[in-house]
Amino acid sequence: MVDTRTQYLKIKSEIDSAVTEVIESSQFIQGPTVREFEANVEKYLGCNHAIGCASGTDALQIAMMAIGVKPGDEIITTPFTFVATTETIALLGAKPVYADIDSKTYNIDVNKIEEKITSKTKGIMPVHLYGQPAEMDRIMDFARANNLIVIEDAAQAMGALYGGKSVSTIGDIGCISFYPSKNLGAFGDGGMLTTNDEELASKIRMITSHGSRKRYYHEILGVNSRLDSIQAAILNVKLRYLDEYCDARLVAAQKYNKRFEGYVETPYVMPGVKHIFHQYSIRVKNRDKMQEFLKSNGIPSMIYYPVPLHLQHAYKYDYKSGDFPVTEEIAKDIISLPMHTELTDEQIDFISEKVIQFNNRL
Ligand SMILES: *Cc1c(COP(=O)(O)O)cnc(C)c1O
Repeated sequence: MVDTRTQYLKIKSEIDSAVTEVIESSQFIQGPTVREFEANVEKYLGCNHAIGCASGTDALQIAMMAIGVKPGDEIITTPFTFVATTETIALLGAKPVYADIDSKTYNIDVNKIEEKITSKTKGIMPVHLYGQPAEMDRIMDFARANNLIVIEDAAQAMGALYGGKSVSTIGDIGCISFYPSKNLGAFGDGGMLTTNDEELASKIRMITSHGSRKRYYHEILGVNSRLDSIQAAILNVKLRYLDEYCDARLVAAQKYNKRFEGYVETPYVMPGVKHIFHQYSIRVKNRDKMQEFLKSNGIPSMIYYPVPLHLQHAYKYDYKSGDFPVTEEIAKDIISLPMHTELTDEQIDFISEKVIQFNNRL
């Protein structure tokens, strides 16, 4: 599905010397490398504050702690995403209230948000799924009109643009993941929060470090969640290549699109956005059989995500099958094909040929 090794080998000497530098400095936690990386991300995304943390999941939790989410609050989000959104809402004692998704973008359907608002609604958490921005203009207008806070889950979308703006800088807080297979991947776990609000930024920084500004003086409830210096050093090198990486994925997506023309419906891209194709996902008949067929031809594929969050055992609440029909339908027929920066024309030819071959046999 990904080839992070080849990607590493191309910039091995830069990465290795950056890592060695940190080891020799012995400043592993909260050293200058982390701040340097944060400043580079601020510049890259065009936001006032970027604050490192230990993972994308932590970023979501810390964002909600920073805006004061408390037990009983409700956060409106999508049921069709990685579990982290729901999990962190639940951890804080709040309730994930889902709005069904749009059948073309797979992102939260803005038309379905209004009916979900109650007196307990605290915020909206859109996810930019597969690297395609959610409809941020309408989400922000709606949130402002209803006094709601917006936390963007941009874990799959660093480098994506919505109306020329970087995702994760449009809402009140943005959350990024540096999980190794993400578009900007570390060599381990890592995450980041972004905001333009000075007060939120200082709160976020405190929360990541046990709720303290001054060591051993704890002002608010916090956690231990920091981006370590070695990861920051690696990310600092890789950030210089992020646009190149996103473009390589875009080119690969266009090649898939071209091969599939007339055979397979290709991913929809909303006008006015830069989709960075964290995933290249298509909808197919007999999905599970197709996955087996691809596997028997040595082609990996993944289902993101086979079980919608409202049907997960750990997060049942009062949800039931049938509550979010668009999500449930897509969970049954979506499949993600290999997508990364190192795909060759031969690989794309072979993969698309096999997909088409399976489709034609139906
Ligand atoms: C990867 C991911 C996360 C979590 O990031 P981690 O760094 O793995 O904790 C959250 N949300 C989405 C949509 C993701 O894809």
